[in-house]
Amino acid sequence: MIPVTTYEGKRVAVFGLGGSGLATAQALAAGGAAVIACDDKREKMAAAEAVGLPTGDLRVADFSGFDALVLSPGVPLTHPAPHWTVERAHAAQIPVVGDIELFDGERRARHPDLRLAAITGTNGKSTTTALLGHLLTAMGEAAQVGGNIGRPVLDLDAVPGIAVVECSSYQIDLAPSLTPDVGALLNLSPDHIDRHGTFENYAAIKGRLIAASRQAVVGTDDRTTARIAEEFAAGGKPVRRVGLLSHEGELRRLAPSGVGAVGERLFAVEAGARREVGSLAGIASLRGRHNAQNAAAALAMAAALGFDPAEAARHLATFPGLPHRMEEVGRAGEVIFVNDSKATNAMSSAQALAAFENIHWIVGGVAKEGGVESLVSFAPRIANAYLIGESTELFERQLRHHVPTVRCHTLATALDVAARAAAGKGGVVLLSPACASFDQFRSFEHRGDVFRDLVAARLSKETA
Ligand code: ADP
Repeated sequence: MIPVTTYEGKRVAVFGLGGSGLATAQALAAGGAAVIACDDKREKMAAAEAVGLPTGDLRVADFSGFDALVLSPGVPLTHPAPHWTVERAHAAQIPVVGDIELFDGERRARHPDLRLAAITGTNGKSTTTALLGHLLTAMGEAAQVGGNIGRPVLDLDAVPGIAVVECSSYQIDLAPSLTPDVGALLNLSPDHIDRHGTFENYAAIKGRLIAASRQAVVGTDDRTTARIAEEFAAGGKPVRRVGLLSHEGELRRLAPSGVGAVGERLFAVEAGARREVGSLAGIASLRGRHNAQNAAAALAMAAALGFDPAEAARHLATFPGLPHRMEEVGRAGEVIFVNDSKATNAMSSAQALAAFENIHWIVGGVAKEGGVESLVSFAPRIANAYLIGESTELFERQLRHHVPTVRCHTLATALDVAARAAAGKGGVVLLSPACASFDQFRSFEHRGDVFRDLVAARLSKETA
């Protein structure tokens, strides 16, 4: 834990006591702040009390007595409407901040030898964060991974090294003085607009991470981030560009410096000259063009942190990958079983459908707007679609003129039917639902875990 001493002797209201909220309240208390912790769920209040935190009802508390409101990133700061705690804080004219702000303030004040590499973007944040942590650790650096990816930042250890931190837009919004040593913006597409009002506002918040960083790594594969890269480079900020390119000649687009992927080959551009630094060929944990973008970004960040990208690239092959993201969970002869439960919308499933061929695709759940209409162009890669969950009728209508569909209702049936169909012929049995999971599962993690267990049970029966 990193005690937050920058609020020593001050009174701080903490609202939202999930994993990171609880860790934040504890770090503030450990640093000498007088904390009042609050949540609107009774069991969260009980959890705070169980670890000895003072709790209180912030509806009736006198906000003029507080020096700050610390908000959990899950609580609306601006949209669709400011949370009532935020309104009370504004009325009392006290700052509203989040755990990353506290972490970075403390880091700069007391632990300047703990460098910060911060990562944001619409997609690929967790993969890039985990991958950079892996590469740095493999090169012997004391790297710690935290933030939105799981371990709260204030749970990290105050030791010299590099903190690799995944930042959601909500966390950036709550971190006005965040100053990473290296900040990466991977890509931007409309997402979470409900919480940020407009795409422009969302992009501006993400762009702030780059504006605040000493060195920036920026993806150039979508229009908005490409424009942001230009703006910052023109303003004199050291920018490394990252891009997916169709041939080596295009690497000049990354000049003066960056990392590009040409197919599976990875090139560093340094002072305008290109150098091949590694390859993604045969690395199962980094299949797909989207992962080439993530890998290129991780290498560019390693370079910005002072490491040789070619040395970093030597460790790509040992990246174990993250669960539920195109995770290979079994193999039976020529058939591989892939858990992509994290794909909760069509855009995410598109990445998996683009990465494989001869796909036995298990799809469905709680559909997002547009369903799977946008995925019919992948039909030549799809052997059959096995429909599960409440989206069955909709997806059948959207898919049936393009690929054969089979109504399976449950994941267990779908796996069974798909595995039989693939057996002996090869291909991929892919769970990539393009849907939320709540009709049949607690979460996407639960759905992926069930799939992994079903595959393991099936494969152990087959080999018995
Ligand atoms: P995040 O943390 O931003 O949600 P993850 O690394 O957890 O991203 O990946 C989630 C899903 O997003 C993956 O399963 C994949 O479908 C898709 N994805 C990952 N990286 C990228 C990328 N660079 N560009 C587009 N989509 C991506």
